[in-house]
Amino acid sequence: MTLDQQKIIIPSAIVVRDLAEILDTSAVEVVKALMQNGVMATVVQVIDFETAAIIAEDFGFSVDTEAEEEASDADSESRPESTSLRLVENDPDAVPRPPIVTVLGHVDHGKTTLLDHIRSTNVQQSEAGGITQHIGAYQVEVNDGRVITFLDTPGHEAFTQMRARGANVTDVGIVVVAADDGLMQQTREAIAHVKAAQVPLVIAINKVDLPNSDPAKIKGQLTEVDLLPEDLGGDQIVVEISALEGLGIEDLLENVLLIADLEELKANPDNESKGIILEAKNDRQRGVTATLLVQTGTLRLGDIVLAGTAFGRIKAMFGSDGDKIESAGPSTPVEILGLSAVPQAGEVFEVRADSRSARLEADSRLRGADAGGVKQAVTLDTLFGEIHRGNVKDFNLVVKADVQGSIEPLVHVLESQSHEEVNVRVIHAAVGSVVESDIQLATASQGVVIAFNVISEPGARKLASEDHIEVREYSVIYDIVGDIEKAVQGLLDPIFEDRQDGVAEVRAVFRKGRRNAIAGCYIREGSVLRGSLCRVIRDGSVLHESNLDTLKRESDDAREVVTGLECGITVSGYESFEEGDEVVTYHKEQIR
Ligand code: GDP
Repeated sequence: MTLDQQKIIIPSAIVVRDLAEILDTSAVEVVKALMQNGVMATVVQVIDFETAAIIAEDFGFSVDTEAEEEASDADSESRPESTSLRLVENDPDAVPRPPIVTVLGHVDHGKTTLLDHIRSTNVQQSEAGGITQHIGAYQVEVNDGRVITFLDTPGHEAFTQMRARGANVTDVGIVVVAADDGLMQQTREAIAHVKAAQVPLVIAINKVDLPNSDPAKIKGQLTEVDLLPEDLGGDQIVVEISALEGLGIEDLLENVLLIADLEELKANPDNESKGIILEAKNDRQRGVTATLLVQTGTLRLGDIVLAGTAFGRIKAMFGSDGDKIESAGPSTPVEILGLSAVPQAGEVFEVRADSRSARLEADSRLRGADAGGVKQAVTLDTLFGEIHRGNVKDFNLVVKADVQGSIEPLVHVLESQSHEEVNVRVIHAAVGSVVESDIQLATASQGVVIAFNVISEPGARKLASEDHIEVREYSVIYDIVGDIEKAVQGLLDPIFEDRQDGVAEVRAVFRKGRRNAIAGCYIREGSVLRGSLCRVIRDGSVLHESNLDTLKRESDDAREVVTGLECGITVSGYESFEEGDEVVTYHKEQIR
């Protein structure tokens, strides 16, 4: 039990789902608590501060309004009310930006068909008359002119590879599940990857036009991976669609926009432009072509771009429909020509004032280790240091096991090792050998892979060694728990307690010269060891703390003197012994 109740800040109005996030509980629990307090609300409903505060207090938190918090801050300006605490946008000139969406799911469940349908019905025809897609991302305009950016990076490997480079570009992940098939391995992986990225997730149950489609079955399966659909009382958005016939797609896009609103996605188009390289290649005729996603600011023709060790002036810029453009604002994907080298996907790009400084920086990155790249992996052994440096708060584990029956108890015991300083999180658990995608997930999340009674595929082994990902193989659950427990204990600041060894009573004081006082002692309790830590105590007060310098029996050096014996003691840095003083010796014992 903590000494103080944890204090939280709640805005004057908040969406139930966001409140659940602050309270670190599920939205269902909050809805239940609301019901117990006589308030009927759905997870997407906004409730006022008073109601939210009652619920928060029920969950053991003490509550402040955002307004109070700001008032206490002498010169704070009032800022627009936020219903989502996920994204705090401090830039007052930031304006809403299009959400960036990635579509993931099992092969053949309809990702391409869905993307094709959205593109063909929503992309404005370009002047050239083509809707052929030129680059791996595009924007669509939906009702009332709002724009959504889709990243066309099929497969969660690409999604996670980006993240492994520190590029979390996706705002919303749509996971497609075929209603005539069900949650397959790749579906489960995709869900795990989106969750691990802490990106809002929308489930699209596809192919509902098929006679053998069974959306209810899919919803049941979703609960197995801890996703409770809204119509079953949970907070998981699930939309039934037919990508082939175009059914439900509008609803799907509406939900994406709803999430965008809740997340308050914003960026300032007047900022220095910055973003992510989505893909790049060397084209024989055109030179280096790179697809960039602008995250903030406005990228302009002629800008000097630096990405990793590649740089250059933008000679030409194209929109996703292949048309030449001169500028691109936040959330816009563009293709550019003019870079000196092929940057890596997932690399951050920035704009520099002149070519010279860009070249110097690129050169120094080439020479040094600062070339971007994969985040440093965490192992069970290095975890403590990472936590200490503030680099890790969640200890992420990918668990692979031989049978389904082992997974649940494994996840349970592993997650129960969490404590206030480190949260042990199983970000993905599945049956089967360790595959490349598991390693990518671990890389992106700075995690460790636990293989229980399963082997690693050769490709996964290779990738793990390249990315320095630790794959721990076990055959006994007890060993896993023991190791994790040890790693987590290692994460904690060690706590030492003093353990008393002996008490020496000073019965006479001998002086050798002016400065050297020898205490003639009688060992009343325990034993005293030469060199051990000690305190000199007089009338119950500690006068001095250091260690036993010399310990002599008669005139001989002794290592240890036990109860009932007499000895001569000197204490380093202390000369003022008096008869009746006590020298208490002790050692420190690590209790954690
Ligand atoms: P991907 O591998 O996830 O990109 O899947 P595709 O988009 O290539 O789709 C695989 C197959 O499913 C294709 O034959 C599609 O025509 C078919 N398909 C996709 N969506 C639907 C749908 O809504 N209804 C039906 N009946 N078939 C679909």
